[in-house]
Amino acid sequence: MAYHSKDSKIWHKFEKCVDGNNIERDNKVSGPAKKLCEHCKDIEKGKAKR
Ligand SMILES: [Zn+2]
Repeated sequence: MAYHSKDSKIWHKFEKCVDGNNIERDNKVSGPAKKLCEHCKDIEKGKAKR
């Protein structure tokens, strides 16, 4: 599920993304923004740990 922070152009794909987890619940908006987060790209490629 895509989500991003109100004040950011970077969006996230995975709930477990560390950057995504830093977004305060109040600032969290669902849907993609301009740019996919680098961590999420790594997770997608299966490069991220765990
Ligand atoms: Zn992310």
